[in-house]
Amino acid sequence: MFENLSERLSGVFDRLTKQGALSDEDVKTALREVRVALLEADVSLPVARDFIKTVQEKATGQAVTKSVTPGQQVVKIVHDALVDVLRGEGDPGKLKIDNPPAPILMVGLQGSGKTTTTAKLAKRMKEKDGKRVLMASLDTNRPAAMEQLAILGAQIGVDTLPIVKGENPVQIARRAKTQASLGGYDVYMLDTAGRLHIDAELIQQAADVRDVANPRETLLVVDGLTGQDAVNVATEFDDKIGVTGVVLTRMDGDGRGGAALSMRAVTGKPIRFVGIGEKMDAIETFEPERVAGRILG
Ligand code: GDP
Repeated sequence: MFENLSERLSGVFDRLTKQGALSDEDVKTALREVRVALLEADVSLPVARDFIKTVQEKATGQAVTKSVTPGQQVVKIVHDALVDVLRGEGDPGKLKIDNPPAPILMVGLQGSGKTTTTAKLAKRMKEKDGKRVLMASLDTNRPAAMEQLAILGAQIGVDTLPIVKGENPVQIARRAKTQASLGGYDVYMLDTAGRLHIDAELIQQAADVRDVANPRETLLVVDGLTGQDAVNVATEFDDKIGVTGVVLTRMDGDGRGGAALSMRAVTGKPIRFVGIGEKMDAIETFEPERVAGRILG
């Protein structure tokens, strides 16, 4: 196990002469430790570099507050700077689901937790917002994925679009739209096909569905444990499909959440929710403070 960053920095500063202000040298020494902590949390190198530069500018010459040690003070500066980068505009938990039926497009790689997240969000909208939700699986390559959504729907009391064999994803999306209008649903969620890697066909399919559904929200589901890969996936999906937000799953796992920082810094897309387990209630609105704390370790 790593020591946490606060302890490490305290150690560093104990060896330095105490002065009234953070000297360049103090800050540099501290930021070397911060850089290591960021890289250990799987923040990408260019993002870590940029971040350190920002913090360095903020920290240099700052008066040391009497009540805290220089180490604690640098940790606070770093923490606040992390929160600044992580926080997107607006309320992450507020989905655009007015004007029924509001389409929500769910995209992401296979195994990222897309289907589970679709059901978790449907349950949340039903219970928190009192919305009638319809879910549809568009994963025509994997009948098991379609079944999985139907099973989750039954479990949480949310309707799923009946499975009709032989339809393509665009046809399913059209049927979901019609069904949502006729059935008086507030929201319909389209759970697109996932693949193990991004390929042209996957992107084309998602783009075709997007053009038919004209989604109010396009949420990219990303495995929070995949670090650098997660950033590449987000960049690719955002360039080709356009996403309105990211859901990071498996934030209950051992990862330190560095993917969140890299993703925000690189794509600028807001992180909206985090998945924190397999159960249907295991989803939370994204809180930058919590993830910042976790990255610092
Ligand atoms: P999909 O292929 O992207 O649709 O992925 P699934 O929704 O089928 O999820 C794959 C596996 O990850 C399932 O066993 C889920 O229960 C699990 N899973 C999804 N989200 C989370 C999460 O936030 N935490 C944990 N621990 N497991 C998750």
